[in-house]
Amino acid sequence: MSTAFATIDELRTALDSGKSSVVEIVTDCIERAEASQDSIHAFIGLRAAGAIDDAKRADARRASGEVLSPLDGIPVAIKDNMVQAGEPTTCASRILEGFVSPYTATAVERLERAGAIIIGRTNMDEFAMGSSTEHSHFGPTRNPWDLTRTPGGSSGGSAAAVAAGIVPAALGSDTGGSIRQPAAFCGVVGMKPTYGRVSRWGLVAFASSLDQIGAFARTARDCAEVIEVIAGHDHRDSTSIPAPVPHYAESFHGDLNGVTLGIPTEYFEAEGVDSDVLESVRAAIGQFEKAGAKTVEVSLPHTRYAIATYYLIANAEASSNLARFDGVRYGHRSRDANGLTQMYRKTRSEGFGTEVQRRIVLGTYVLSAGYYDAYYRKAQQVRTLVRSDFERAFETCDALVTPTSPEVAFAFGDKTDDPLTMYLSDIYTASANLAGIPGVSIPCGRVGGLPVGLQLLGKPLDETTPLRVADAYQRATDHHLHHAGSSE
Ligand code: GLN
Repeated sequence: MSTAFATIDELRTALDSGKSSVVEIVTDCIERAEASQDSIHAFIGLRAAGAIDDAKRADARRASGEVLSPLDGIPVAIKDNMVQAGEPTTCASRILEGFVSPYTATAVERLERAGAIIIGRTNMDEFAMGSSTEHSHFGPTRNPWDLTRTPGGSSGGSAAAVAAGIVPAALGSDTGGSIRQPAAFCGVVGMKPTYGRVSRWGLVAFASSLDQIGAFARTARDCAEVIEVIAGHDHRDSTSIPAPVPHYAESFHGDLNGVTLGIPTEYFEAEGVDSDVLESVRAAIGQFEKAGAKTVEVSLPHTRYAIATYYLIANAEASSNLARFDGVRYGHRSRDANGLTQMYRKTRSEGFGTEVQRRIVLGTYVLSAGYYDAYYRKAQQVRTLVRSDFERAFETCDALVTPTSPEVAFAFGDKTDDPLTMYLSDIYTASANLAGIPGVSIPCGRVGGLPVGLQLLGKPLDETTPLRVADAYQRATDHHLHHAGSSE
């Protein structure tokens, strides 16, 4: 069987029936990854030999009847900001040149323990700062639907790897939209769970109060399966939530009877939103109603402050988190420096790209003595208001429906000259990080041949409702079955 574009479910059936072996599936995956590097460039590094060894072990397990989990033998890619013991991690930055991790991130370790095969590390914006994967030290990833366009970011490599049919699933991280926006641009499913649902141990920190690991897949069902494996309390991350993880698919009934969906007025009136994108999202809302959902209008009045608030808090936290990259213990170190201070300065100037430097400067500024109250403290106060907007909205509904991004995938270079226009791409996604709530993006149509993403946001710790709605939609429609290069 051809394993390109296969879902986890399909691969598992092929394995269970003996039609394919794990070694065959993983070999295919790696061949596709290698063959697409020149055009799509989804990966920073492949684990070809290690993955084949793991695959042999998975086949041996299967032969002796001990399958570890539903993900045993399933290939998965990870974003290059999660560490795996013995493997490099770069965060798409020169500053981590030569770094090899001595330990494994909890989310990755849980995949390994479930028997999933990690095939490689995907490309991203440097330190996850960006919305297009153009800020990678190793060069951009291209959108499989149209190679002149970006795949979104910052988890663009993971989204593109799934969209190009290389892997059925991949991990990403989402600080302000970095899973949901590339999922939308690449026509795949991408979920950011509740803050604290998945351990951040071993995820290189960008903005610690916003960062969350999540997953990409072709279907809501597959995405739910991956989240289920990586989620759950971890004592090594003090912000990880000690709550049981449900078996999400148990709630996938196909109908949406009893579900009330909130439509935030402000999200449909925002400036600069493509009217064709809104039309696709409205058509999908009609489909939800057909499946039994009720809809109500809700208001999130502080939406217009979300981007400013997000960029103040994210940059402040980044400036502090990135202080550790100083050339002393690991990564790049400038060769021609005189003395310690100059070594720090040169190492960081050479090692960090322009966008990362911009954010460190902005973040340091808003935390500085004279400006802390005016910017950082104010931003924290507005963050509380954004969060209470959601609390109020969720009094009348179970989940919210919004576009994921104001437009479809944009062309390379379109937004690189003006960072502010790039920042505005996060208008629909960043609020969920400020509030810590879960969100999933699913494909809901195409505009000019490019995928449109719809976002479902849930109450804290309720990944189930957004996933259930997404699954019901995918049972009734076929948008998720189209892929780059497929005929209509
Ligand atoms: N685009 C946003 C940023 O550049 C979000 C990034 C992310 O979620 N990692 O900060």
